[in-house]
Amino acid sequence: MKPTVGIPRALLYYEFFPLWNTFLKSLGVSTCVSPCTNKRILANGLKNSVDEACLPIKLAMGHVIELCGKVDYIFLPRIVSVAPREYICPKFLGFPDMVRNAVPNVPKLIDANIDLYHPRSKAQKNLHEIGKLFCSNPMRINRAHKTACQSLISYKKLLQENILPEAAMEIMACKEIVFKNKHSKYDSNGPTIALIGHSYNIYDQHISMDIIGRLKKLGVNVVTAETLPEEIVRQGATILPKKLFWTLGQQSIGSAIHYLSDPAISGIILVSSFGCGPDALTGELIERYIHRTRTIPFLKLTLDEHTGEAGVITRLEAFLDMVYWKAG
Ligand code: SF4
Repeated sequence: MKPTVGIPRALLYYEFFPLWNTFLKSLGVSTCVSPCTNKRILANGLKNSVDEACLPIKLAMGHVIELCGKVDYIFLPRIVSVAPREYICPKFLGFPDMVRNAVPNVPKLIDANIDLYHPRSKAQKNLHEIGKLFCSNPMRINRAHKTACQSLISYKKLLQENILPEAAMEIMACKEIVFKNKHSKYDSNGPTIALIGHSYNIYDQHISMDIIGRLKKLGVNVVTAETLPEEIVRQGATILPKKLFWTLGQQSIGSAIHYLSDPAISGIILVSSFGCGPDALTGELIERYIHRTRTIPFLKLTLDEHTGEAGVITRLEAFLDMVYWKAG
């Protein structure tokens, strides 16, 4: 019987799921993704995490718990770096250990290192370690790696068409090209807002209180860091006097700076999580830069487990009033 690997719908899921899923499936493994975040998943995550953890880590814990008892393995790579000379937040590194300590009877964790910090490091080598768990044929693992990279490239192209991650994954699963063509970069004639924040905050409908869906319903176009090609985001981040070595911080700053110089953007919303050290710094840099360079409606939302929906809606409405007022 095929082994089943559980993939938590959390953290870098929205960035790398097509790569991981294609790789595992190409090796004959079944995959199972935890359901969309709901109250139970969040409550379990909060109950089983240390207080000091940020909200996305607590939520990821809830998703891991949701998979327990349903799968043979849980895919939880120890992500150190996803780009040369950059690091990912240290909480990603320690997360597999947090899970082992907090969750009794957790299935076997696939926690191989993903570390691309040194320019000569190869993602292939990192994935090879994982592949060896399920396949003894190195050629097959290499082929699985190539197919997985292609899948990630196709996924990123769909995101750049301004298709939301879950819809893009669905398109890839169904290979339904017609659906893709129905989506233009901008859905309505309304204003366009840049939504800046980590993918696991802005694309998780429960935790973000569906900011994207709410804005779209109000006739607003939404663009994000994922809508931009990586080179443009990196170019935006070069405005800093010193390179930021956090990949996620670079994404936020680079996309915010780019959108700030785009006259088609009518406002910027910055979403961060309570308890996030890197966001405290990058958020401040973005805010200062915005205030220094352009008078544009700006809203900063900090999410935590107690954030009330009514408060977020009121702030979004006030922000949009400002956007329309400014547009005259
Ligand atoms: S970057 Fe911030 S929100 Fe993301 S895992 Fe690290 S501390 Fe948490």
